Amino acid sequence: MTFDSGSARSREKNRNTQHLLSVFGDIFCAGRRRRRQFYFRAAMMKSVRVVVVGAGVIGFSTAVCIVEALPFCSVTLMADKFSPDTTSDGAAGILFAAQFPDIPLQRQRCWFKNSFDHLLAIAQSQCAPEAGVMLNSGWQIFKEVPAVKKPFWSEFVIGFRLMTDVELKRFPDHKFGQAFTTLKCECSTYLPWLEKRFRKAGGQVEQRKVNNLQELSNSFDIIVNCSGLGSKVLVGDTQVYPVRGQVLKVEAPWVQHFIRDGDGTTYIYPGIRSVTIGGTRQEGDWRLQVDDRDTKGILERCSRLEPSLNKAKILSEWVGLRPSRKNPRVEREVVELQGRPVPVVHNYGHGGWGVTLAWGTALDTLGLVKQSLHEMAPQPKL
Ligand code: FAD
Repeated sequence: MTFDSGSARSREKNRNTQHLLSVFGDIFCAGRRRRRQFYFRAAMMKSVRVVVVGAGVIGFSTAVCIVEALPFCSVTLMADKFSPDTTSDGAAGILFAAQFPDIPLQRQRCWFKNSFDHLLAIAQSQCAPEAGVMLNSGWQIFKEVPAVKKPFWSEFVIGFRLMTDVELKRFPDHKFGQAFTTLKCECSTYLPWLEKRFRKAGGQVEQRKVNNLQELSNSFDIIVNCSGLGSKVLVGDTQVYPVRGQVLKVEAPWVQHFIRDGDGTTYIYPGIRSVTIGGTRQEGDWRLQVDDRDTKGILERCSRLEPSLNKAKILSEWVGLRPSRKNPRVEREVVELQGRPVPVVHNYGHGGWGVTLAWGTALDTLGLVKQSLHEMAPQPKL
């Protein structure tokens, strides 16, 4: 599958046409007067200005979904930090997820499936190396048998099965394990690729810190907030908090399988150019400096799972703050800004699963933007 192929373009065109139909109803099928109304309204829509705040994996995924589905809107992505300086850039980028407590499971399944299918199509296309997406097989192992043996995403990854006793012999401290093939999306490559795709579809990019939403209300009709941890200040969300994560990149091309301890603190993820090993999960910790004690702990724990890592050369060390929240916020509200109601669509707070859920929540966000357009479009006089 190629992403520039004629058939992909015509599928995209079909989707856009379907969107136009869904926004404006079946006006195409009606008489000349209603067709004129349709074109008038489509032209009006060209002047709808959408801004997406945030240039991490959530912001760029959302911006691409919007600009490609709504070619008659002008879309600007605005952020103070871009690749390689976002949290997304340092994420290991492996696809699997924990379950959020208050989001319907069906919605979480859709987020996972839509993201997985989107990235799998890229991994299986000629774009895979330039997008930084690859298939990755390995094991998630547990010291105690977990309450849920088959997570909700087990049917979407490839070949999910429980590990045999023979396989588990390799991990004497662990009693239970899952083997499967998932995807790894390396954001330091994927984000520039998404940016190119966004610009090609007509999107505009601006580097700027947004101090408050009022600043945007004169220049834009719809605001999409993908500012991650920045939402704490930007929209005053006291529920967002950092979970500090430190990782190392090491040179170990002989390591070909991922290994993750089910408690989430220790993992080994082989990538395209290096192996990411980690990690830490320090709640409420805002420190961005590398901590030597964390480095030591990571090396010890990972070498216990994969002794050959003792021989690996350390290439880099990195710290990022996961934009965490009890549940991610993917919802729409109408906010009074400078005396007028402005639709604000939020998509942030994905914690340690932002790469996994980016495309799925971006599609939901697109749906919320479409809802806002419905409300803005002048109603036909039938
Ligand atoms: P960010 O990447 O932080 O982007 C936020 C954007 O908003 C930035 O561009 C920033 O400049 C902008 N911004 C914020 N405030 C403002 C403002 N006021 N004005 C203008 N711009 C603003 N996830 C997985 O799915 N799989 C993994 O294997 C994985 N591993 C991880 C390992 C580590 C060590 C860490 C730290 C995270 C990991 N994650 C993983 C989680 C993942 O990195 C995050 O969920 C994801 O990066 C969040 O993306 P984001 O776009 O919301 O935030």
